[in-house]
Amino acid sequence: MDYISTRGRSPAASFSHIALDGLAPDAGLYVPRAYPQVGADELRRWRRLPYAALAFEILRKFAPELPADSLKALLQDAYSARLFGSEEITPVHTLAPGLHLLRLSGGPTLAFKDLAMQWLGRLFEHLLAQEGRTLTILGATSGDTGSAAEHALRGRRGLGVFMLSPHGRMSPFQRAQMYSLHDDNIVNLAVDGSFDDCQALVKALSADLGFKKRMRLGAVNSINWARLAAQVVYYFKAWLAVTTRDGEPVSFAVPSGNFGNVCAGHVARCMGLPIRRLIVATNENDVLDEFFRTGRYRPRTTARETSSPSMDISRASNLERFVFDLVGRDAEQLRVLWARLASEGEIDLSREACWADAARFGFASGASTHADRLRTIRTVWQRHGLEIDPHTADGVHVGLRHQEPGVPLVCLETALPAKFEATMVEALGRLPARPAGFDGLESLPQRFTRLANDAKALQRLMLDHPAQG
Ligand SMILES: *Cc1c(COP(=O)(O)O)cnc(C)c1O
Repeated sequence: MDYISTRGRSPAASFSHIALDGLAPDAGLYVPRAYPQVGADELRRWRRLPYAALAFEILRKFAPELPADSLKALLQDAYSARLFGSEEITPVHTLAPGLHLLRLSGGPTLAFKDLAMQWLGRLFEHLLAQEGRTLTILGATSGDTGSAAEHALRGRRGLGVFMLSPHGRMSPFQRAQMYSLHDDNIVNLAVDGSFDDCQALVKALSADLGFKKRMRLGAVNSINWARLAAQVVYYFKAWLAVTTRDGEPVSFAVPSGNFGNVCAGHVARCMGLPIRRLIVATNENDVLDEFFRTGRYRPRTTARETSSPSMDISRASNLERFVFDLVGRDAEQLRVLWARLASEGEIDLSREACWADAARFGFASGASTHADRLRTIRTVWQRHGLEIDPHTADGVHVGLRHQEPGVPLVCLETALPAKFEATMVEALGRLPARPAGFDGLESLPQRFTRLANDAKALQRLMLDHPAQG
């Protein structure tokens, strides 16, 4: 198994290499040369596997060069009931016959991003020890990515983390989850600017190849293939949980921003998992909904602030991986399209031959408004006695619009309501439940450094800081 770049101008690389590297040198995204296939027999054998064992079966296909013992140990350690609150790790909660919620938020920061990050942190530490080197992570977050990454990387050998967040724009709970960490290898930087500004700073510093090399810079954003590969696992787990026979089709509704989570569903489907529909749910930032409805991909200049803030994105970086498959893995055509995207600010795939059979990939989509979100939170509470968070509500709202008789629908829960109290109060008139262990989180001492929206200042701070990997 080796990995190639979607832009076709980087040498093929191993899993270990691309896990630490993030973006390919030609600015493309790494993908496996071919998706490993899983047949009905193998799928049947997986029915009774616990989560970590299932993760091992799937990830060994993506990372065959990792010694089986090490991989198994990493996964056992990452996917434990101690960290994820249940033996099932990602339990399926049935709301009604044929309608299920896949619970992905039992991890340390109460969002699905823990599932990939807890594995990534352990994988990084293992690879770095093996290679005798260090890594400095520079990331930008609007909330969930930063806290999941910090909780997974805190105290790990050879790793330093510099996390940029927009000053004053996260929920008090999200802020406390990050800023209350006092580990020496974690540096929280509150930028005077928006999330887009934070992302632009990361881009600017990563584009400085001298600096990148000197700092041994790495990334944990969702373009990292190792993260995506770990997310493939819970699509298999959920399919196994809601079906009883071979080949039974299941649809998934996925709250989407950067197209990371649902891209993992696309990969699972390409591996042979019987997925009927992958339903992409956006909020008012509907770049992806527009794309799947019309074939036009029009990244916006800024994202709108909404009540499902972790989906407030203006462009969907992982979409490049899907478009690569859509154009028949023709890197030349992808390069032409992305050059046009850079010069004209948009591309229209409905004018390309490949769009004619785009339907074979099974995507459907829809967008929600603030009112849809509130109504869905209320309805799910009244009918099923369950509190769902605003992002999950976007998924349920759009999912139900595409539900088909006889096809089980699995809606992905991406965070717990406790992270987004203000919107929950607006929807239900009271505070949401808070899991044990999180009482008083907001009153813990917080540590962060204010930073101007200035790449040079950030560079200076990082060069002088003892936390670099
Ligand atoms: C990150 C996030 C999303 C969006 O996921 P993508 O992989 O970027 O599509 C949705 N909901 C929550 C709660 C998130 O944290």
